[in-house]
Amino acid sequence: MHDDKNCIFCKIISGEIPGSKVYDDKNVIAFRDIQPAAELHLLFIHKEHTVNINEMMMKHPKQLIEIFEAINQFTSENDLINKGYRIISNVGKNAGQSVFHTHFHLLSGKRLGGIN
Ligand code: AMP
Repeated sequence: MHDDKNCIFCKIISGEIPGSKVYDDKNVIAFRDIQPAAELHLLFIHKEHTVNINEMMMKHPKQLIEIFEAINQFTSENDLINKGYRIISNVGKNAGQSVFHTHFHLLSGKRLGGIN
């Protein structure tokens, strides 16, 4: 697995720093966001480091499927399809990206506000 020694999410994958994990398979983990913006706020990441969804699509498009397979499994098993949920992936500082390891926010819980 390719990782980045300075990447905080790679350190959560390796166990070097703790993460509140809710899902773990061969390729993907999900854990609770440290600053939740909704009642349920998770981050889904691939275990191989890329910086954003464009790099992932260019270099390893299969990883996008692997992440969405994980999201599908988690949301199916946790009744989130009925409750409703939102997926967001920020690309670049102007969009609010602060961690440069490709990740998908999953927001759910009480009725979500608008996307701004
Ligand atoms: P973004 O701003 O889209 O790059 O999302 C990065 C997210 O990572 C933010 O919502 C942060 O709250 C979250 N975050 C940063 N460090 C940690 C950490 N150690 N554990 C869990 N979530 C984190």
